[in-house]
Amino acid sequence: MRSRKVVLALAFAVLLGALMLAVHFLAASGLARPQLYRRTSRAMGTFVTVAAWSGDRSHAEEALDLALEEIRLLEGLLSTFDGKSELSEINGAPPGRPVLVSPATLEALGVARRVWRESGGAFDPTVGPLVELWRRAREEGRLPSDEEIEAARSKVGFEQVEVEGETTSVAVGSAGVRLDLAALAKGLAAERATRALAASGIRSGFADVGGDVCFLGSGPSGRPWRAGISDPRDPEQVVETLHVSARAVVTSGNYQQVSVVEGKRISHIIDPRTGRPADGPDSVTVVAADGAEADAWATALSVLGAGGADAARGAGVEFVMYFVEDGGLRRFASEGIREYEGGSR
Ligand code: ADP
Ligand code: MG
Repeated sequence: MRSRKVVLALAFAVLLGALMLAVHFLAASGLARPQLYRRTSRAMGTFVTVAAWSGDRSHAEEALDLALEEIRLLEGLLSTFDGKSELSEINGAPPGRPVLVSPATLEALGVARRVWRESGGAFDPTVGPLVELWRRAREEGRLPSDEEIEAARSKVGFEQVEVEGETTSVAVGSAGVRLDLAALAKGLAAERATRALAASGIRSGFADVGGDVCFLGSGPSGRPWRAGISDPRDPEQVVETLHVSARAVVTSGNYQQVSVVEGKRISHIIDPRTGRPADGPDSVTVVAADGAEADAWATALSVLGAGGADAARGAGVEFVMYFVEDGGLRRFASEGIREYEGGSR
């Protein structure tokens, strides 16, 4: 009996020693219990958060640096405020003259072209002149005339943008046509930031660019990440939580940028086919494999509404739409969203 107690005590002592050694070793090597390292910054006119799950602080910090760098790089390429960005260079070149652009800009244009085609022109990155017209009208508190709308429409149409050969150069075909990739830039930034995390060896993390989020792998516990959808009537409230791994979740919401002129609600998203503000859902959340694609589709579905369900299925993207009706919420979602449903709260 007694010897057994001694053996137990001895075993305990050995275990304790081993544990202390392990802790000492871990501390010396910079390793710690895995945790979610995160960094928040400002870019692309919004807040950006990148996060990496890691047991190595310096490794995580390095990966987060690279991810933020990627976002800033993209901002520098696609900004329409910066006269020296690649997009400004394309827009400033004489009609028909090609401009050499970098792979990230080409990726943006490639996604834009695909979603433009698949959405039947509901998504169109040349919609700028119409966006401008309606923005001015909003500021002046009046609706634009039919003539003004037609004049702006003549400068809209992505078919007038040519991406050449092995896609190394871009030319805008006609005077007055210009590119604005704002509707997918944040999603692409999140996408490329998570790719930077992955390239650094991070297997779980995310990049959130103004609410457009790309999730890398599954969540820290090995279970899916949880993404909340805001109530369009009160964005502080979550109406629904989606459970996703390795997916982008992007919401386009009228609630942030809608104004009323002459009794009409005016969205900041324009239907390029009619030249008038979209009259679609109050919020669209898209789940897709690619961040840029998710972002572009969130805008496309804001234009198309429930009628865009077939086009979205064809493109392999899932969505949830909310319509505010008589103070209540009406929900309309794609079949495939079930896979991500975790129950409402
Ligand atoms: P945000 O999250 O900033 O609201 P969105 O992804 O919803 O961004 O895109 C909105 C921006 O896209 C608008 O400010 C406008 O510049 C541009 N835009 C508006 N309508 C369209 C459209 N039909 N196709 C492509 N871009 C559009
Ligand atoms: Mg968008």
